[in-house]
Amino acid sequence: MKVRVRFAPSPTGPLHIGGVRTALYNYLFARQNGGDMILRIEDTDQTRFVPGAEQYIIEALDWLGIKFDEGVHLGGNYGPYRQSDRKPLYRQYAEQLLEGGWAYYAFDRPEELDAKRKEAEAQKKVFQYDCNTRGAMVNSLTLPADEVERRIASGEPYVVRFKFPENIDITVHDLIRGDVTMNSRLLDDKVLFKSDGMPTYHLANIVDDHLMEVSHVIRGEEWLPSAPLHVMLYKAFGWEETMPQFAHLPLLLKPEGNGKLSKRDGDRLGFPVFPLDWVNPETGEKSSGYREQGYLPQAVVNMLALLGWNPGSGVDDRSGVNPRLQELMSMDELIKLFSIEHISKSGARFNVEKAKWFNHEYLQQMSDEWLADQFLPQLKEHGVDAERDYVVKVCGMMKERLNFPQELWDQAHYFFVAPTEYDPKAVAKRWKPGMTTHMAKVIEILNTVPFEHDAIHHALLDEYILGNQLNMGQIMNSLRLAVVGNTVGPDMITLVLTIGKEETIRRVQRAIEVIGEIEN
Ligand code: GLU
Repeated sequence: MKVRVRFAPSPTGPLHIGGVRTALYNYLFARQNGGDMILRIEDTDQTRFVPGAEQYIIEALDWLGIKFDEGVHLGGNYGPYRQSDRKPLYRQYAEQLLEGGWAYYAFDRPEELDAKRKEAEAQKKVFQYDCNTRGAMVNSLTLPADEVERRIASGEPYVVRFKFPENIDITVHDLIRGDVTMNSRLLDDKVLFKSDGMPTYHLANIVDDHLMEVSHVIRGEEWLPSAPLHVMLYKAFGWEETMPQFAHLPLLLKPEGNGKLSKRDGDRLGFPVFPLDWVNPETGEKSSGYREQGYLPQAVVNMLALLGWNPGSGVDDRSGVNPRLQELMSMDELIKLFSIEHISKSGARFNVEKAKWFNHEYLQQMSDEWLADQFLPQLKEHGVDAERDYVVKVCGMMKERLNFPQELWDQAHYFFVAPTEYDPKAVAKRWKPGMTTHMAKVIEILNTVPFEHDAIHHALLDEYILGNQLNMGQIMNSLRLAVVGNTVGPDMITLVLTIGKEETIRRVQRAIEVIGEIEN
């Protein structure tokens, strides 16, 4: 049987990063097995439909390099790929179940169901429409046949519910968890179809997986409780032979480890839980995305791949070379190494620092030119009109200090604009009495020696500072203070060489004037 997998999101909002991981695992599995990857939009619940969500999902996965062979945006031989476009197709399957005695009509009105729920609540119980309660409800199991016909003919709203056999054990074989068995007494008779002609998720999902010849269902753990119903539906339809294999992925957990990772955790701890920025079309509420925060798609893919999966011993032979390589894996390597057996059963804790580390590593692989393209708009925003070659050079110098391109202005603005103030703490610590004389000497040296690294190093550090037994830390940090405004940045002489002789001298001169001579 050919491997065919699907990613089947509901367009109810921006795609959660956990959903992205589900798509990624499906993709890795499909590619590894020369199979097909399908994007199916599950929009049967029209009350939860959010405009723009489908486009968001497509754009996000495309950004990450998770490609499809068939889908709502591509077409294919098994379409349509949007469930609302498949609406006319589902009724016959609901009827097939009704005829086979696997389903029944239910006419209970919402207020009647509510009353049942309240009644149960008062007894500290939970009402469930199931084999224990259905005999006392308004449905085709309890009403005479002609009454059922009359109600349907008169247009009374109904739903079709699955009829779980009483007291049987249903086993779901899960590729990650092994056999999971549940007794039908505990399962509710889920609604499969409504009189408006719309199927629910459960019916549409099974019918579509069957018709689309899906071989493996790889999805989030939250669907495990529905899996016994799904297995029973395959049985009821007589499709057991071609039933897909199931793999339910562990949850993505909060950094602290307890509970599912939520948007609120992201807001609280300052990291995105969505791939792209998103603005809720109704409330205007904004959610930030990995892309806009400066994450590289390769970094997000690599990080997500390892949240819940590990390559096992697959890369052991490389660990002697560089232990970091064990964690850094390109999409192609992931496709080679991925295996469902190495997906963990327990939830995976999200780690913000690790996410940043991945981005740092992948940023180092980007060219200085690329980084300059990210920096140029930032410079423009700050009113700086810089030569591209110069920006490229600065990017080359600063890259290893960065996790995100967005940090460039913060970390490298002094290559473009002179400091207007000097960090008072650094001044107090470094700018000691006699410093104006030392800085005047720096200017003199820069004016006299050839403007290149070794000459400056020799004249300033060896001859002037060491030769006169002066305090190296104080003088060099004061020079840095004059040029940068505080005591950060790359190697001092390289910095001087980069910003140039005239500019350096101007800045030192200005510091002498502004900070001035300190009295002891
Ligand atoms: N539409 C479901 C979701 O949004 C898909 C579940 C499944 O893959 O079966 O997660």
